[in-house]
Amino acid sequence: EIDLSRRVQAIKPSPTLAVTNRAAELKAAGKDIIGLGAGEPDFDTPQHIKDAAIAAINAGQTKYTAVDGTPALKNAIISKFQRDNNLNYEANQILVSSGGKQSFFNLALALLNEGDEVIIPAPYWVSYPDMVIVADGKPVIIETSEATRFKITAEQLDAAITSKTKLVVLNSPSNPTGMAYSKDELAALGEVLRKHPSVMVATDDMYEHTLWTGEDFVNILSVCPDLYDRTFVLNGVSKAYSMTGWRIGYAAGPAKAIAAMKKVQSQSTSNPCSVSQAAAVAALNGPQECIGEMVKEFKKRHDFVVKAFNDMPGVTCLPVDGTFYAFPGFQGVIDRMENIYNDLDLAEYLLTEAGVALVPGSAFGAPGHLRISFATSMQNLEQAMERIAKAIK
Ligand code: PLP
Repeated sequence: EIDLSRRVQAIKPSPTLAVTNRAAELKAAGKDIIGLGAGEPDFDTPQHIKDAAIAAINAGQTKYTAVDGTPALKNAIISKFQRDNNLNYEANQILVSSGGKQSFFNLALALLNEGDEVIIPAPYWVSYPDMVIVADGKPVIIETSEATRFKITAEQLDAAITSKTKLVVLNSPSNPTGMAYSKDELAALGEVLRKHPSVMVATDDMYEHTLWTGEDFVNILSVCPDLYDRTFVLNGVSKAYSMTGWRIGYAAGPAKAIAAMKKVQSQSTSNPCSVSQAAAVAALNGPQECIGEMVKEFKKRHDFVVKAFNDMPGVTCLPVDGTFYAFPGFQGVIDRMENIYNDLDLAEYLLTEAGVALVPGSAFGAPGHLRISFATSMQNLEQAMERIAKAIK
């Protein structure tokens, strides 16, 4: 009997990847499954980005790079922050990693001691709590509901902060809810954070560009620049440029902490893939029209999906601000169906009976909901909505 570490026994595999795998297995077994679980755009990576990668291979850029990223990519990231976010960083404040996931992992390992509390608003991206646990920290979850469009209030944040709070995680637009914080909402959260100078902030801006509120994207630093010295900005090319497989994410923040994160990375993966870094330079420095085209398509699908859910008795679905997710509530359906007691049962039922794969809300700390990813064709969505409506009638 192999004796596994307490650390690994305390966490679970990513539930979103599990749903995607399960759907793939059923498909391979010949079942007709529409996968609405995956958190990745269904578009191809734009051609000019692929060309840059091919050119990098041919130019021999196939060796180790600096652990924290090539100078070219760091410069592209620094320019991106100036251009899009009006934020100024030096090269020693930037760390490039193998995906946004590794950025947060590095951050947790670099900051947390045993028992340090990390405030995570729910519904949350599935990986935050588990990565905090791996780093011996303690996730402190703030629950939200449709009433605040799944966003935490200043009062809730104030009540959650203790002497052990080390970090607050903000993710806007949010996976899984699609909601984005407004300027005023961020200003109110910033007011609370000012009262607690030792608390640090991580703003995960992965879905920055996938936004259709009509307002410019804002994060906590756009509104409270005085928090610069204790804020980490996490972002990446995965979602904006349909580059999930290339594995490039990045973090910006106080130099001392970024150096510590780099040290962690130097003892785990070293540099992110050299070829992917060249592709990311092309993504950040190249034409940005590809983003708008994808967002337009996501918005169209969003409008269709939200209406279709709201037409189903017992389902409530708020229109969202961005991303390619919606987070409908199914409690009314769960309450009226026999042998279905929660969102996990319902997701399993929809997968096996209707051939539609959705991720149960429990995975994101919000039971009674399901997350739909509409990063798939309109045809698939039309068929999926028909199947769901029929299955829960
Ligand atoms: N942050 C959020 C909110 C996400 O949804 C994801 C991916 O699902 C990531 C970070 C990590 O992205 P990646 O590691 O693919 O770059």
